[in-house]
Amino acid sequence: MNFNNVRYERSFGTSSQLPPSTMPEISFAGRSNVGKSSLINRLFNRKALAKVSGTPGKTSTINFFEAGDVRFVDLPGYGYAKVSKSEKGRWSELIEGYFNQDRDFLLVLSLIDIRHPAQPLDENMIAFLQDAELPFAVVLTKADKLTPNKQRQQKAAITRQLDLGPDVPIVVTSSEKGIGIDELRKLVSAEVRN
Ligand code: GDP
Repeated sequence: MNFNNVRYERSFGTSSQLPPSTMPEISFAGRSNVGKSSLINRLFNRKALAKVSGTPGKTSTINFFEAGDVRFVDLPGYGYAKVSKSEKGRWSELIEGYFNQDRDFLLVLSLIDIRHPAQPLDENMIAFLQDAELPFAVVLTKADKLTPNKQRQQKAAITRQLDLGPDVPIVVTSSEKGIGIDELRKLVSAEVRN
């Protein structure tokens, strides 16, 4: 798959606006500020395909990108403490609405900050993916903030914490330094080919 050929499609504020699933979808989920936008931009070699923000808690939307025969889906970041109740409600509506639809879920990339244990909302996300038997991989972000040794320790600790089976890939990445980006591209390409 060609990561240099991606096109922003549209953003959606409610799940009922989502068009039918016409292509296999690879989605990105994670806490607000985990580095999701930076990772999307790095993956596709683009500066501002997804909006990077120093201030977390942007308005929740689901953003669609198209790359050949695959659609990439940027899900709204969860867990930003300062958003209003109605904004939290919008988040749940979007995420639950998306996953409850009859869509072609090829792979969910669940992003977790490598520096900390998975937070309760990350645990919920992973438990949901496991229960729903959706194909997913864990992407640890911001690896440049830790030494390689500490990265390995955290990878092992988070794998244990989330009880990830041997079939669940877990990739250590840094959008800043380019760590693990090729590995992630290979993982995605392998899914697309299958
Ligand atoms: P999002 O809210 O999940 O989309 O996160 P963003 O991509 O907007 O990033 C949130 C913050 O983390 C920004 O200040 C980024 O510059 C920073 N950030 C993102 N990725 C990395 C990374 O790989 N390494 C470091 N050190 N900082 C990062």
